Amino acid sequence: MISTLSNIIFVIGFSFIILFLYSLSKHRNRVSGLFSLMCLTIAIYLIGYGFELRSENIEQIIFFLKMEYFGTSFMTTIWFLFSYKFYFNKNPSLRLKIIVMVIPILTLFFNVTNEYHHLFYTNISAVQHNGFLIVHLSRGPWYFVNIVYSYVVLLLGSTFFYRVWKNSLYTMRTQALLMFIGTLCPGMMNFVYLLGLSPYGLDLVPFGLSILAILYFIALFRYDFFDIGDIIRSVVFAEIREGIIVVDDKKRLIDFNNAAQKVFSCLKVVNIGINLSDVEELREIVEYESSPFEIEMVHNGCIQYYEVRVTDLTEKNKIVGSVFFIRDITKQREMIQKLETMASYDDLTQVYNRRRLMEEAKKAALRVMRHKSFLSVLMIDIDFFKNINDKYGHLAGDEVIKTVIRSCEERLRSTDIIGRYGGEEFIIILPEANLKNSLRIAEHIRKHVEDMEVTYDGAVIKVTISIGVASNKSNAETINVMKVIDDADLALYNAKNSGRNRVSS
Ligand code: GH3
Ligand code: MG
Ligand code: MG
Repeated sequence: MISTLSNIIFVIGFSFIILFLYSLSKHRNRVSGLFSLMCLTIAIYLIGYGFELRSENIEQIIFFLKMEYFGTSFMTTIWFLFSYKFYFNKNPSLRLKIIVMVIPILTLFFNVTNEYHHLFYTNISAVQHNGFLIVHLSRGPWYFVNIVYSYVVLLLGSTFFYRVWKNSLYTMRTQALLMFIGTLCPGMMNFVYLLGLSPYGLDLVPFGLSILAILYFIALFRYDFFDIGDIIRSVVFAEIREGIIVVDDKKRLIDFNNAAQKVFSCLKVVNIGINLSDVEELREIVEYESSPFEIEMVHNGCIQYYEVRVTDLTEKNKIVGSVFFIRDITKQREMIQKLETMASYDDLTQVYNRRRLMEEAKKAALRVMRHKSFLSVLMIDIDFFKNINDKYGHLAGDEVIKTVIRSCEERLRSTDIIGRYGGEEFIIILPEANLKNSLRIAEHIRKHVEDMEVTYDGAVIKVTISIGVASNKSNAETINVMKVIDDADLALYNAKNSGRNRVSS
């Protein structure tokens, strides 16, 4: 039975050697170095233990016990440093390393030199059992120091894995859970052993370690524990659609990704280290005032818009650099412009719709008020328009509306405002124009419409318009544009009532 047991332990021991070599080859990974060391210490312990079980006399037992401790002493400590790095994502400081290594080094020393002081084992004896030697150890004071130390370290390391498991997402979470459970196993086995509950007083830790090995193997191969972080980091950085530029605290270029390179042609590997303030193309980016901000770039004659977000890189509360995230917002910008157009212009005539017309009218009134000048409103309505619709059809009516509008526009200055007020009613705002001038302009427009002909589908259509004109009072302090529009409406009503095709005020 013992020989089967030792064979199993050799197999587990050698699988840790393989794990050691495998993780040694994964030197790019952040925790692989410590992990491989941990595997080595476990392998030394297990192989030593396998030989210990096969020993034929007490001298051999003592020899292999010493060999085991070249692994055992450092096992939990290295595992602790591994969990520390896994959790904090940084190397433990030299001071911490020295502090946690003191006890393991002493443990190894006391174990190897035990026969001179008996601080580790007070007595080592062996009894025959079914033809095999079973060792009996009487533990000395340092043995317990080592046990307490190992449990404290294991407990701390386990909390690290537990926290990663609680706080992280996806793969990392599963990995951390597997390692957390794996870690508990050897400790629990050791506990059973220390309570004296294990059969024949056998050390059960190797079996705990083999469960740990299986779980770590799963974390390793199934979840690509060693590679995924690096792969994700490099792939995400390279392939993310958002451009990324990394600079140091002096604004010198450190790194950039493909997307950033597409925006700024000067981002080339040879330019790493140059100061971005010295590059015309990038100066705008580093001299920002607040984040996020927007920039415009011309690519192949088209304006592209980008939103730039800046995040500081800090280490120990000190800013060591910045990362710029650059997002193409051209499509959004174009969409917004399109929506703005849709919200402001009339579909049929492409002049301001009523909402925008009112906004512009109010703005014009404010401008005019500052100059203590006039503002006039022309309210235009097509005469007998229903008849046109009835006679020539609705589409012909549309064409008439458009043509009348174009004809009005031709007679306006650039500061004048025209918009569609209702069905076939329009308003023209004439800033800086008094009533006399406005009447003249209105008459001009009316005459022009009277003289024009609209051809639609072979039919020649003649239309006339009526115009109501109103201006603000010359001495009024404020201009109530709504009042002027109401007056113009009233005037239009008069124009209609007195026979149409005329201007009234
Ligand atoms: P009046 O001389 O009194 O103004 O007579 P009218 O027939 O023009 O009467 P009114 O101004 O009340 O009629 C407006 C008509 O214009 C009613 C509606 O069918 C038509 N209309 C309104 N909007 C449009 C449009 O976008 N296209 C066309 N084709 N017709 C429209
Ligand atoms: Mg009408
Ligand atoms: Mg009308």
